[in-house]
Amino acid sequence: MSATQPAQQDQRQFISGNEAVAQAARDAGCSVASAYPGTPSTEILEFIAAYPQVYTEWSINEKVSLEVAIGASLAGSRALCAMKHVGVNVASDALMTQTLIGAVGGLVLVVADDVGLSSSQNEQDSRYWGRFAHLPILEPSDAQETYAMTRLAFALSEQYEVPVIVRLTTRICHVKGVVTSSPAETYEPKGFTKDPARLVMVPGNAKKRIPLMMARDQVLRQVSEDHPLNYTENGSDQSVGFVTSGAAYFHVKEAYPEAPVLKLGFSHPAPIEKIRAFSTSVDKLVVVEEVEPLLETELRAADVNVYGKDILPRIGELSPSVLAPCISKLMGTPCKDELIPVEELFPRPPTLCVACPHLGIYYCLSHIKNTIISGDIGCYTLGAGHPWNALDTTISMGASLSVAMGIDKGRSEADKNKNVLAVIGDSTFMHMGMQGLLDITYNKGNVTVLLLDNRAVGMTGGQNAPSSGLDIHGEATMQVDFRKLCEALGVKSERIHEVNPYELPTLFKALRSETKVKEPSVIITNQPCVLTERYSQLPPLKVDDDKCTGCSNCLDVGCPAILVTRRETVIKPNGKEKELAFVNIDTAACTGCDLCTNTCAPDAIVPAFNVDKINAIEVK
Ligand code: SF4
Ligand code: SF4
Repeated sequence: MSATQPAQQDQRQFISGNEAVAQAARDAGCSVASAYPGTPSTEILEFIAAYPQVYTEWSINEKVSLEVAIGASLAGSRALCAMKHVGVNVASDALMTQTLIGAVGGLVLVVADDVGLSSSQNEQDSRYWGRFAHLPILEPSDAQETYAMTRLAFALSEQYEVPVIVRLTTRICHVKGVVTSSPAETYEPKGFTKDPARLVMVPGNAKKRIPLMMARDQVLRQVSEDHPLNYTENGSDQSVGFVTSGAAYFHVKEAYPEAPVLKLGFSHPAPIEKIRAFSTSVDKLVVVEEVEPLLETELRAADVNVYGKDILPRIGELSPSVLAPCISKLMGTPCKDELIPVEELFPRPPTLCVACPHLGIYYCLSHIKNTIISGDIGCYTLGAGHPWNALDTTISMGASLSVAMGIDKGRSEADKNKNVLAVIGDSTFMHMGMQGLLDITYNKGNVTVLLLDNRAVGMTGGQNAPSSGLDIHGEATMQVDFRKLCEALGVKSERIHEVNPYELPTLFKALRSETKVKEPSVIITNQPCVLTERYSQLPPLKVDDDKCTGCSNCLDVGCPAILVTRRETVIKPNGKEKELAFVNIDTAACTGCDLCTNTCAPDAIVPAFNVDKINAIEVK
């Protein structure tokens, strides 16, 4: 999906950090850009895709994505790969060897950390990867710096033959700022040079590269010590000084404008001696870094006296209102009045979309007894929540199948008669789930797999994938045939069913029959994500108040268009109390998917308008 407009060159623009990365890549003469969608980094590739001079692709996972960028770099072109923090876990196998080979054309890895877990299964600090893989890290604090540092990253990568990490956080990815671009450059690819001793990482060759990597570390540390991206801002009050990087820099400036600050843009390798010298100019030095105490630990090891996570929180985003009380406590001064914590928003549980094709699946799963259900990462992780409460585990991308396999093989006597189900989306299946299915068939597991094919990466906004038959530009390409793919991975043809997830009786029937069979089976659902153009809306429905009994069965579907209007407690003939929930349907939101009518015994859910009215609406 690429609905973005290319940014003009040499202009002041009000753009986000993600847009700034895209524009910097274009202006740096980057030839190849790849990514797997993941919040908060998704838009980077969508924006780059708008520039026809850059080859862009949605890769099937982050390892493949990085390997594509590595290949382009080895061919002598400038290449960029973008991913969210958990993506680096997937890409790390390639990353940890590529660091030995190094870059030829500039190779930039943009990693966006979801600090505060707005849309992730964990909170990781990607700065660890720079230390683990011996790579330099640039940490911009706003969109302008993101533009400048992304361009610089290509040059550094070539100069020191090393992949360079540009570390963003959600705030930097999505917050807009004024960015002035500099003239674009034309980068001529250097071409591929055969050099097996460098490019073929068998042990004998790899061993020889390790000392070179260590020597590179020393050079990069000196570059960092001298680099203008690591600079001091003098303050008027020397009682407390700060060393900081990324989004935390602005929090420090807002809370303590009068304090001296050492800002790190080239944050790894850390300029330890520069920080040591700075520490002698202030009474107390505080390291302000989001998530992990990485710099703090390095400074303590180098015998620099600092405060850090002993006074600041280690979890979630920092802000001026988080910093102020911690620093006041350290300094023994009263907390500034104006820094009052922002009022918490009213809690709003995440839910699936109106008419989402996954609603029917989770409705069925919530009514199935005696079953252990292994979930995965995607929109459908929401099946763990109200009203379905259907998932028993969710670990990482693609893990549902292999975890289900482990549950099948490791279950105790008490669980012997339970069904084991794995639920996975189409994009996640291609990302990392296919191997799990192969493991199940090869090792004779007894798992029923629900492959929820909505033909998009739904979680991140409906991006194209091999299941959609469209590429990143929306142009036609191959479309994966999941039936054939599952067959090729060892599932018997008769054990593969394709069902419409809006037809609940068919779904229930497929689930009942396949969970009885003691061999691998796959149920593929075949309706598109409601956020994509492939989804066709039908005339909306409404509730006939005279027929509605308040049974609340339709609420179990979990469609957000169904709203409770009135609750009533009645006494049943057996003397027990029963709560009734009378409902209506938000006709402006309802897409007429007909799913809820499956659950309404008195047929109280009916067309909202007569045909003439619908035609009148369409004509309008
Ligand atoms: S299922 Fe039908 S009768 Fe029951 S609450 Fe919903 S609309 Fe009313
Ligand atoms: S028909 Fe029912 S389930 Fe489908 S969108 Fe409308 S209210 Fe939701």
